[in-house]
Order: sequence, then C-alpha cells, then structure tokens
Amino acid sequence: MHAPADAAPSFETLFGRPPRVHVRAPGRVNLIGEHTDYNGGFVLPMAIPQQTEVRLAPREDRKVRAFSANLGAKGNVDEYELGQEKRGRGWLDYVQGVTHVLRAEGLTVGGFDLWLRSDVPLGSGLSSSAALEVALLRGLREAFGLTLDDVRIALLGQKVECDFVGAPVGVMDQMASSLAHGSAALFLDTRTLQYERVPLPPGVEPIVINSGVTHSHSGGDYRVRRAECERAAAQLGVAQLRDLPDAELPRAMALPDPLGRRVRHVLTENARVLATVRALRSGDLAALGPLLYDSHASQRDDYEVSVPEIDLLVDLARAEPDVLGARLTGGGFGGSVVMLARAGKGAGAAARIVARYSEKSAHKGTILVPESPSER
Ligand code: ADP
Ligand code: MG
Repeated sequence: MHAPADAAPSFETLFGRPPRVHVRAPGRVNLIGEHTDYNGGFVLPMAIPQQTEVRLAPREDRKVRAFSANLGAKGNVDEYELGQEKRGRGWLDYVQGVTHVLRAEGLTVGGFDLWLRSDVPLGSGLSSSAALEVALLRGLREAFGLTLDDVRIALLGQKVECDFVGAPVGVMDQMASSLAHGSAALFLDTRTLQYERVPLPPGVEPIVINSGVTHSHSGGDYRVRRAECERAAAQLGVAQLRDLPDAELPRAMALPDPLGRRVRHVLTENARVLATVRALRSGDLAALGPLLYDSHASQRDDYEVSVPEIDLLVDLARAEPDVLGARLTGGGFGGSVVMLARAGKGAGAAARIVARYSEKSAHKGTILVPESPSER
C-alpha cells in the first residue's frame, strides 16, 4: 500500500536545505486514439488537473539522492552515482533513465537531491510515468540551464521508457504531459509531431474515473500488442499501420487471427480521432458519444485490452442520460475510463456511476475529473 503522500517528510527535512527548483507536470487523459501512437497515427489527449511535483537542488558531487512521497515506507532516499545507472531498481529506473538518456544525448547535469510527489494515480492509465519524466526534465532544465524545448523534453521522456525502463511506449503520453494544458485537447499526429490545440465545445465536460485496477506497461500485454502491429505491418508491406489505406482492410482481415482485428482497431481508431476533432470543432455533440462508445467496443473486441471492471464502468455510463459517451483510456488491462458529459452534469453523473460501481465490483472507483472543489 502507498502511504498518504502528505505524511511524507519535506525536502528540507530529508536534505537539510531548501530546494533550488520547484516544478510540475500534469498527468493526461486520452479522449480518443488508443494504441495508435506507436503505429504512427493520431491521438487526442488532454492534461488532467492531477500533477507530479518535483523539488530539487544541485549537489557538489555526482550523486543523485531521490525520494518519492508516494512510496511511503518504501520511499526511503535512494541513491546512485551519475554514469553508474543500472536498470532494475523499480521506480528509481525512471530517475536513472532520465540522467542516462541526457548523458547519451550530450546534455550534462551534475548530482542533485530530488523530492517528488504526485497526485496522478500510479499505474492507472493516466500517465504518472510521463508526468514524472517531464517534471524531472523540466526541473533539470531549470537547475542546470539545459537548452531543451517542450517537444524535445517529450522525446527524451519517451526514450527513458523505451531505452532504459524497458517499456516500448509511443510518444503520446510525454507529448501530452509536456504540451497539453488547460481544458483544450492536444490533437497530435504522432508521426510528424505536428499538433493543434482543440478546445472542448462549451456544452461538454470530461469525466475521468479510475477503476482501481492497476496495470503495468513494462508487463507483457502491451508489448505483445505492439509486436502484433509490427508483424501485421510487415506482412502487409507497410512501414507502419498508419500507411495502410482503409481500402486494404479486407486484405488485413485475411491475416491469421488476431492480426486482422488488431489492424481493424488501429485503422478505425485513427478515423475516429479525425471524426472526433471534426465534431469538437463544429460543436456536434450528438456525434461525440457514438465515437467514444465505438472506440471502447473496438478496444474490447478487436484490440482486447479491456477488463470486466472497465466494461462495467462504460456500461454504467450508458445508463446516464447526461453522459454522451465513454471509453477505456490509456494502454488498458485496467486503468481508467474517460467520458464526455453535458456541461455542469459531470459531477453528479460521475458520483452515481462510482456508487453503482462500488456495489457491483470488488474495486473502489475514484473520480479524478471533475475535481471536487475540496481537493485543491
Ligand atoms: P502510468 O504511467 O499509467 O501511471 P506506468 O506503469 O507507465 O503507469 O508507470 C507507473 C510507474 O511509474 C510506477 O510503478 C512507478 O515506478 C513510476 N512512478 C510514477 N510516478 C511516481 C511517483 N510519484 N513516485 C514514484 N514512482 C512513480
Ligand atoms: Mg506510463
């Protein structure tokens, strides 16, 4: 169990001096466009109000001493020497990965004391990992005067997970944490990294509910899905599934199962992202709901990344007239659900859904968005 982050010792108590730098980066919720990023496709994430907070101060030597307020009793100060980063130390791999990748890219940092805390739930599909990477990179940029723009920070964060932590993620999470803010969605082409901010129309607001079932990306399932996409692309003669025209879908469906269904998810999901952006821009609320529900069905049946608890939350959403649509968000195998509701109706609907979820499931659902006013 994680101890309440508020009970943790302060930076000053642990390190005997104040921090030099204090920065934050948000978690993210993906409105639509799931498992499309590592296929070169489109995504539409938003920042959530929950953030990861980094306090740090440079040291005279080459040590990194790191503490996470989220890890309670296990959250003692962990230590390593710059240049001696070694994978396999749990959460510290994300910190070691950052200094390892910076050095590999020719960016020099010295030793530092690090304190971090997050109110993004860990392993719940809301990207606590990217929030940690982006917040730490922002902190090191400021403390050591590194020349890094926000896109570069996102790419470095992705490298940390792929090259050091060993989770072969796409670029969506880090781009969202580094570039999304406020209540606009970030419409991103993951191949070109071109992005545009798309505000939600005034009539809708997001709901985010954590199912309480945690996942692990460095676990096998995500890796298997990614490998299936790569295998399908190779057999269909394209570099990435992004390059496969819709008209080629019948050819894909002739591949041995489940490859055809994996391709169908990626192709239809890319199309749904584009349709969602159109609907948001034109304020076509009626179009939004079916797009989210169709995305969920595609993740559940074709991509097979949902779990019963997530399906239950989506079904409970259907019973709420003010909820337009709902879907699994994030990599899946647990995690969270995103919904779009009529503006002003999100809090009430979310409370009813979570209450029914608690009756029907062994897990406790938590509402992240809309945030209750007492939480800030
Ligand atoms: P997600 O990004 O969806 O939350 P991941 O499995 O990608 O899930 O990343 C979660 C992991 O990131 C945690 O198990 C932990 O190792 C690390 N992590 C993220 N935030 C923190 C934090 N505040 N303190 C310590 N470790 C963290
Ligand atoms: Mg992650």
